[in-house]
Amino acid sequence: MSFVQNLFAAILPSSWMDEMQKSTERWSVRCCRCDNSRSLWDAGGIRWGKMSVGNVQRTLAWCRDCQEVTTAAVERNDAAEDSERCFDRVEAS
Ligand SMILES: [Zn+2]
Repeated sequence: MSFVQNLFAAILPSSWMDEMQKSTERWSVRCCRCDNSRSLWDAGGIRWGKMSVGNVQRTLAWCRDCQEVTTAAVERNDAAEDSERCFDRVEAS
């Protein structure tokens, strides 16, 4: 896990961490240069509901294939996941 992920693991109950990991794994980071993608969790990021750490729509990320820091797109793996919509509804109300 990345430094940020370890930090959250130290302060959050494990059930919250499980939820955060599942939520984060629904997102992936795609290198804009070579198109190689991996899960945001594997890349060391966190995305939980609308809260995110270490990522925006476009971010700089280390690409193993390019062997350098490149511009990467943060993308959602599945468009129809309901738990994250719940977060959206809560924030909208
Ligand atoms: Zn790349």
